[in-house]
Amino acid sequence: MNCYCCSTLPYSQCCEPLHSGLALPKSAEALMRSRYCAYVLKNAEYILDTYSKLEQAHHSVEDISAFADSCKFLRLEIVDSSHNVVEFKAFYCVGHTVGILHERSNFELEGERWKYKDGELFSHPEMKLSRNDPCPCKSGKKFKQCHLKS
Ligand SMILES: [Zn+2]
Ligand SMILES: [Zn+2]
Repeated sequence: MNCYCCSTLPYSQCCEPLHSGLALPKSAEALMRSRYCAYVLKNAEYILDTYSKLEQAHHSVEDISAFADSCKFLRLEIVDSSHNVVEFKAFYCVGHTVGILHERSNFELEGERWKYKDGELFSHPEMKLSRNDPCPCKSGKKFKQCHLKS
C-alpha cells in the first residue's frame, strides 16, 4: 500500500521515518506531505512540532486533534511546488459532504528543519455525494463501500 500522502512509496519509505524522527524532510514538499500524512494518522504532536516557532504559540495538540477528528481525509494533490512554497488540495469528507482544503503554503528552514510558516486559502464549494457515487479518494470503489463507511 502506498503512503497516506498519495506518493508512490510505501509509508515505511516515505513519511514514517519523518514521523519517527529517524530522518528530516529534504524539501518543503516532503514536509508538507508528512504533515498531511500526520493528519490522516491523527499524529497531532508531529503537526505541532513542524509549525514554525512563531506559529506554534497559536496551536495546541488539542486543537489539532479536534480538527483531525472532525473529518476524514481522502486524498492529497500537489498543485505546485517550489523551494519554499507548496500549493496543494486536500480532499476530505464529513458524512456525505466532500470539501477541498486548497492552500498555497509557505515554509521556512529553521536550522536544518523545514517548518510550516503560513498560507493562503482558496475556497471551493462543498459537494454532496450520494452513497453510490465513486469515492473521491479514487480507490475505484463506491463511496458507500469506501470512505463513507470507514
Ligand atoms: Zn508519505
Ligand atoms: Zn475512499
